[in-house]
Amino acid sequence: MAAIPRPLGVVGAMEVEVEAVDAALEERQFTSVLGCYVASGSIDGFPVLVVRSGIGKVNAALATAALAQAGAVGVVFVGVAGSISSEAQIGDAVVATDLVQHDVDISPFGHQPGYIHGAIAGGVADTALSDALALAAVSLGATVHRGRIASGDQFISSPGRGRAIADQFKALAVEMEGAAVAQACRQLGLPFAVLRWISDAADDQAAVDFEQFVSQIAALDLAIIRRVVAAER
Ligand code: SAH
Repeated sequence: MAAIPRPLGVVGAMEVEVEAVDAALEERQFTSVLGCYVASGSIDGFPVLVVRSGIGKVNAALATAALAQAGAVGVVFVGVAGSISSEAQIGDAVVATDLVQHDVDISPFGHQPGYIHGAIAGGVADTALSDALALAAVSLGATVHRGRIASGDQFISSPGRGRAIADQFKALAVEMEGAAVAQACRQLGLPFAVLRWISDAADDQAAVDFEQFVSQIAALDLAIIRRVVAAER
């Protein structure tokens, strides 16, 4: 198995997505980098850096840069997303193959939506790191889907909007940070991977389903990170 980047950066948008990982850090220390609070330490002997980015693409890009600045040589995002695929059900995991910003659109100038001057506004996930995330989720008993994730600065809660994004970008899930992490990592030359638990179906029930699901996330995310770093020993 390919090596897991060491130290590994872990980012989640909301407190609940990273609080258990953060609390599990041994010899925990904090630094403030680029306005982000980065915790560092080790999990089962493996060096890990953790940051809660806050919601949305700008926050996610900054937090990724902060992780890099603090010494992370690879980045994993763990969190929740809405499903826009009939296959991915609430409680399933989606591991991104690649990510695109669905709200990037300079098509009036002849560019493909989601692209800026020929380059995807997002990026392609590292295969080895993605495999490690997928294996970890399978070992927890989750159904794992692999495919594109679409990110934008909008909570998607209408079936029509979800379908439009699925049709246009051939994506399985929507969220609000992943493609920004991807684009930042591409620019910084860091391998990255994104795992999202499906919290809702991006429909008119989405906000309610989301609220019901998120409480389970802290423990799931820690279980994933423990398995990913354990694969190294
Ligand atoms: N409850 C929060 C807001 C959550 S926004 C508050 O009040 O501040 C939703 C978060 O979960 C984002 O970080 C996003 O990445 C993810 N997410 C889950 N379902 C989503 C959906 N249907 N559309 C977009 N993002 C979603």
